[in-house]
Amino acid sequence: MTSTAAAEITLSHRFADELPELAVDWQAVEPPAPQLLVLNDALAADFGLDTAYLRTPEGVGLLTGTAVPDGARPVAQAYAGHQFGAFNPRLGDGRALLLGEVTDREGVLRDLHLKGSGPTPFSRGGDGFAAVGPMLREYIVGEAMHALGIPSTRALAVVATGRTVLRESALPGAVLTRVASSHLRVGTFVLARAMGDVPLLGRLVDHAIARHYPHLGGTENRALALLDAVIDAQARLIARWMLVGFVHGVMNTDNMTISGETIDYGPCAFLDTFDVGAVFSSIDQQGRYAYGAQPAIGEWNLARFAEALLPLLAEDTDAAVAAAQQSLAAYRETYNAAWAEGMHAKLGGTPNDERTAALVNDMFDMLAMARVDYTSFFRRLASAARGDREPARALFADPAPVDLWVERWLALAPDPDLMDRVNPLYIPRNHLVEEALAAATEGDLVPLGELVGVIRDPFTARPGLTRYEQPAPEAFGPYVTYCGT
Ligand code: AMP
Ligand code: MG
Repeated sequence: MTSTAAAEITLSHRFADELPELAVDWQAVEPPAPQLLVLNDALAADFGLDTAYLRTPEGVGLLTGTAVPDGARPVAQAYAGHQFGAFNPRLGDGRALLLGEVTDREGVLRDLHLKGSGPTPFSRGGDGFAAVGPMLREYIVGEAMHALGIPSTRALAVVATGRTVLRESALPGAVLTRVASSHLRVGTFVLARAMGDVPLLGRLVDHAIARHYPHLGGTENRALALLDAVIDAQARLIARWMLVGFVHGVMNTDNMTISGETIDYGPCAFLDTFDVGAVFSSIDQQGRYAYGAQPAIGEWNLARFAEALLPLLAEDTDAAVAAAQQSLAAYRETYNAAWAEGMHAKLGGTPNDERTAALVNDMFDMLAMARVDYTSFFRRLASAARGDREPARALFADPAPVDLWVERWLALAPDPDLMDRVNPLYIPRNHLVEEALAAATEGDLVPLGELVGVIRDPFTARPGLTRYEQPAPEAFGPYVTYCGT
């Protein structure tokens, strides 16, 4: 079933064609009463998609995968993964589908993907569905990350299905239409390796290079080149998370992309008070994916990626292991350099020397001790560089340590304008996200629309938005999010 508008959309199926062992042809379940909740007009425009069409029943059919263009070939993708460290050889899209690939305005191929589209052969015990709240959360946080300049998958739309899904309670169901550079994950390679099919692994490497690192296509040892590229991309990505105070919450190897985009926003959150041990996920009892653990977990996941690639890295195992170890050693270097560069900018372009390094250490001790709001601190510090120290001081019950610290920092001549370009004023604060999701679940989309409007321009102070700048009120208590399934 296609209209003229739908026929103009071409969904290619390169993944399904090139890697049939990792794809199962599948169909989305028809939602009983679909209702478009949000449409990302800006993202639609990137693909030249007609937003008026996407708002029609036919367009909503595309967004929910029930009216795909002729020639499209939706598939459930197979992948493995380490969930909280435990290897699971068969995960895959248990409630998701790859509708196909679309070429954006820049000529880049991007995945059009659904989450919450019904059960698949990979559903294991799950129902295959998703709830409105978590899908809208993914929309909000993905837009925030994009606006912050952090590579991320993004939501094109969220459609309420009219189906009730059972979680801790009965919830309204939804389908998220997601756009990503691809859905290739560390877990995709782990599965190919576990299948013992080295030619498949080789095709997967070639497919990943063609999509994400085409400049490496002519390299002799392509698997090694891909390993280095992914290590580099992930080291930089995780440095960006740390600098902005983002906690992903479920960094399983199936949730780590080859593209270097952030993916799968489940129990994720931005820090309020600075705390390296911050965990927001109800299921992360051990703090495996705590804020401060993320750089090391990234390295652990990349070691699993390297292991998956071993048969292609060198002829004999010892040489392959040595090559993998050498590549992995670059992770810390790249991470540290990216993080330090970002931190210098956050502090106003202070010199990259031991004075700044000592200041940064003392700053983190001070922030942790005083339980200061991480985002507010940097933004208010810019005022101190402009001559008004009060806003930053006001964050501390005892301002004596910060007075001394600010004195040392000002001696390094920080640039407040640079600070305001890199330190966000507006992030999707947990209490605001919860408020918007609670209203949306009750049918009121106004707070959600306002919040997204604010976080889409995170660096520019605007009048009337004070409440979006402020940390959660005491009454909000410690923040816990549930897995988002
Ligand atoms: P996620 O936490 O979204 O990254 O999902 C981890 C794995 O569990 C993936 O294989 C998902 O497809 C699967 N999964 C999560 N929720 C459901 C669900 N409600 N029904 C079926 N599979 C699910
Ligand atoms: Mg996942």
